[in-house]
This record gives sequence, structure tokens and C-alpha cells, in this order.
Amino acid sequence: MMPRLDGEALVKRLPFVRGRLEANVPLADLTWFRAGGPAEVLFTPLDETDLADFLRATPKDISIYVIGVGSNLLVRDGGVPGVVIRLGRGFSEIKVEADSRVRVGTAVLDVRVARFAYDNSIDGLTFLGGIPGTIGGALRMNGGAYGGETKNVLVEARAIDRAGIVHVLSNTDMKYSYRHCGASEDLIFTEALLQGRSGNQDEILAAMNKITDSREATQPIKSRTGGSTFKNPPGNKSWQLIDKAGLRGFAIGSAKVSELHCNFLINEGGATATQIEELGETIRARVLAAFGIELDWEIKRIGVPAGGQ
Ligand SMILES: Cc1cc2nc3c(=O)[nH]c(=O)nc-3n(C[C@H](O)[C@H](O)[C@H](O)COP(=O)(O)OP(=O)(O)OC[C@H]3O[C@@H](n4cnc5c(N)ncnc54)[C@H](O)[C@@H]3O)c2cc1C
Repeated sequence: MMPRLDGEALVKRLPFVRGRLEANVPLADLTWFRAGGPAEVLFTPLDETDLADFLRATPKDISIYVIGVGSNLLVRDGGVPGVVIRLGRGFSEIKVEADSRVRVGTAVLDVRVARFAYDNSIDGLTFLGGIPGTIGGALRMNGGAYGGETKNVLVEARAIDRAGIVHVLSNTDMKYSYRHCGASEDLIFTEALLQGRSGNQDEILAAMNKITDSREATQPIKSRTGGSTFKNPPGNKSWQLIDKAGLRGFAIGSAKVSELHCNFLINEGGATATQIEELGETIRARVLAAFGIELDWEIKRIGVPAGGQ
């Protein structure tokens, strides 16, 4: 049995910060699934220096996890022990640089970057309009949509490690593959430099509108969901395997397989993280039994189950 989370006691062990440290903060409100338990402590750094100072001074036995806007996260019902970091205003700058490049803080929403690129007649970043996360999440997940992928546009990423040291990682340093970044797990990305190309505003707008229309038609984007639950196995589409296994619309409590897109799980209201995870594991077991294919979670599951075990 893990001890119960005690945010107030943990805050006392943490260094002074210029940003905000809050104890026992419900994370359900900060994730798309709207389910799960609290962060023992939530830290919102004021800026990159505040973040680096905090990481340097925090005792190494305290675990740290960074989140974006929680569009790819399932927080378990017992909450997340240690410190959850959420980047805010101090990481929200966005500007154009020479050669149609965009430098952007990692708290900025992908959609905002797509719109900013359009405003500046920069093409090549429209795919970001199809991903509802932050640039930090896109860097870590190698987010991609509609033929575009973060690895195709990233020039370099700035990051801070657990010792508070700043690193600048090249595209190769990120060790990207499908929905995966092989750069050290302890890195917190603070800024990205993205490569676009000079474009025509009418064409960029048309591409963006096409993405918006397609998403609305094919994804339950207004639901409480974590997006694609499983990665596509080589040569297969997860949604097709789930559909063929007869699981379209299958539910455990209020956690349900989307009727619109079988690789999306939906919290229909009041589902626990335990039910959502159990639904995912049931899908994995049934697809394995039916086709001998093991589905790999794309959604990141964090924290401990209810009861803290
Ligand atoms: C309706 C819907 C549609 C979606 N469609 C797509 C799609 O088409 N393509 C796609 O790729 N994804 C899609 N997703 C999944 C999700 O939007 C992406 O994975 C996104 O990149 C996650 O960003 P986030 O800010 O929400 O990150 P979170 O979900 O909060 O975190 C995801 C991961 O990123 C890490 N992370 C976040 N910020 C940082 C940072 N600053 N430094 C280091 N690590 C960080 C977290 O630790 C975690 O491991 C969809 C999700 C939903 C809900």
C-alpha cells in the first residue's frame, strides 16, 4: 500500500519558487477525459529560470511529471504522487524568425501555432490545427495529423533536465519514431523552433478548413476523450481491429468505445479512470484473442489507482 498523498507536507520539502505551488489539486479538470485523482502538488513555474531553479533544488526522491493540456493523458483515480508541472504564461511566446521559421513556447496550443503561421503566410504547419494539445505535448508525442508530423518540422527543441541544466536538442537528438520521442524522459521542453515555408494564405486557409471539417466528421472532438487510445500496429489500423472485434460502442460503466471512431474511448459522464483503463485493457485482450495482435497504448497513463496501490 502506498501512503496517501499529502500535498501540504510535500510542499514543505520543496524549494522557494516565484511561480505557484499548490497542494492536492484535482487533475480531472486539467485533462480531456475529466477523470482521475489529484496531483499531490501542482507547480506552475513563472518562467524558464524559475523552472530550472526548482528542478535543481528539488530533492531527487520526489517524482516529477510535466503535463500539457491533458489531451493524451489518463490520470489514475488515486492521483499522482510527487510534483506535476504545468507550464503557463511564461512559456507562451510565439514569433517568426528568418526563413519561415516559428519559435514558440511549449505551453502554446498547436492550433494557435497553425493560425499564427497562417497569419504570417507560413505553410507547412497546418497539420498542427488538427491536434488539440500544446507544443510541449507535440514534441514529446511526435504529434501528427493529416500527413504532417512534428519530426518533419522540428529544427530544435529547448529543454531543461532534472538537474536544472538547459539543453538544445536537434531533430536527430529527439530520436523520433511514430508517436514516440526517444529523448530522455526527464527533459521538460520549454521552446521549439519549427520550420515552415513561405505560402499562399488562401491555400493555407483552405487546407486548415479541410482539416477542421474532416476532424468534425470523423472524431468525437467535443467529447471527454484522450484521442487515439492505441498506436496503429504495423500494417494495421487500431480502429479497424477494434471494430472487427465487435467492440464499437462497447462500454464499462460510463466509459465507452466511441461509435464514431473506435480507437477513441469516451467518458460519457462520471466514468472513473479505473473504468476507462479497464475498458482499454479489455479491448487489448479481445483484439489479441481475435487477431493475435497486441495493441500498444498511445495514451499516457499516470499516477496510482484508487486506494494508492
Ligand atoms: C479529440 C482528440 C484528437 C486528437 N487527435 C490527435 C491527432 O490527430 N494526432 C496526434 O498526434 N494526437 C492527437 N491527439 C492526442 C493529443 O492531442 C496529442 O498527443 C498532443 O500532442 C498532447 O498534447 P498535450 O499538451 O495535451 O499533452 P498531455 O496530454 O498533457 O501530455 C502528453 C505527453 O506529453 C508530455 N509533455 C507535455 N508537455 C511537455 C513538455 N513541455 N515537456 C516534456 N513533455 C511534455 C507529457 O509528459 C505526456 O507524456 C488527440 C487528442 C484528442 C483528445
